[in-house]
Amino acid sequence: MRGSAYERPNKLFTPGPVNIPNRVSLASIGVCYHHRVQAFAEILGETLEMLKPVFGTVRQVYPIHTTGRGAMEGVINNILTPEDKAIAVCNGSFGAMAAKILERNGIPCVRCFESWEASVDLEELEQLIREQRATAITVVHNDTSNGLVNPIWDIGRLARKYDLMLIVDSVSAAGCMPFRFDEWGVDAVVTASQKGLMSPAGMSFCVLSEKAEQASERITSHDFYIDLKSIRKSLQKNSQTPGSTPVSLVLAVHEAVKMIGEEGLEQVYARHQDLSARTKQALEAMGFSLFPEHCRYRSDSLTVAAPPAGVDSSALVKHMREQYHIQIGKGLGDYADGLIRIAHMGYCYEEDMLQCIAVLEASMADLGWRESAGAGVQAFIKARKG
Ligand code: PLP
Repeated sequence: MRGSAYERPNKLFTPGPVNIPNRVSLASIGVCYHHRVQAFAEILGETLEMLKPVFGTVRQVYPIHTTGRGAMEGVINNILTPEDKAIAVCNGSFGAMAAKILERNGIPCVRCFESWEASVDLEELEQLIREQRATAITVVHNDTSNGLVNPIWDIGRLARKYDLMLIVDSVSAAGCMPFRFDEWGVDAVVTASQKGLMSPAGMSFCVLSEKAEQASERITSHDFYIDLKSIRKSLQKNSQTPGSTPVSLVLAVHEAVKMIGEEGLEQVYARHQDLSARTKQALEAMGFSLFPEHCRYRSDSLTVAAPPAGVDSSALVKHMREQYHIQIGKGLGDYADGLIRIAHMGYCYEEDMLQCIAVLEASMADLGWRESAGAGVQAFIKARKG
């Protein structure tokens, strides 16, 4: 059928999944390896090595055959038990998701900072840690629901001071923004394949501190499927994973991290920072307000904004997708109908953002909410450095 989504696939500006480079797609179907052959073990080993700088660590990177939420649940259950008590920073949908994981698994959990519009107050957090005598803290590096960044570097200091296990979800930041596992004093971090790692969904990766690894040696209450102890043993024995490895996903991530290495990690971060700053300026020039209104650190991998008065953000998102095949994100949860979320995440360059902003402007004009297009594109171009 002409004009069907099959012929004209949407270009993705959703904060995951993101567009997949051709190189990555081709690599994922290039060779049909059995997961137990040496050649594939070497590819898996190389992938995990190349991921170390992405996490800012010299420690082992673990592959986990599941999406981001599965990996968060697996990591939590492998290093905490119902004898622990976790503080869950909930200032976004994915912060609250970690709390739900803890609660569902019977691990006592104290939710805090539940507004999606507020940064963490470190003094308040320290006070809570003291009062609650917690043993762990869960926090999202970059919450994809509101584009708010939590200062893992500062929270890491508190975790070290009070000997807490610090568990971080960096699903929508790793590979887009610096993560310094070793330097920040993190005990566990998780990311997934479909965001900064520019691959299809279904694969995740984590790093554990020595303390977290020791905890995982003792704990047996986790489920059978995600068993970090057995993943560790399998990697050490022959650079393989327990069970059947999703070979095509590993091949995809292998190619994607190779691309990141070729561009240079620092350059990748600088590109995200540049696209983020310019997209934010473009949206403001079009009358959008950045969300949350006040926050200390905003995401470099996505921009979240409320539209000008009278603009229906859901209708706008729908029109962009149906008319122009450009897919951006709606708000989530209570903000489902009041926000847009635009990703500049992973495989995304200046020309892509120009297209997205131009289509956003064209859609606003089509729907009668703007007389003329151009202010956003102009602001984006003007904000170019150098
Ligand atoms: N954490 C964050 C910050 C996310 O953005 C997402 C997905 O959007 C998840 C966790 C869950 O990941 P997945 O959808 O891969 O299970």
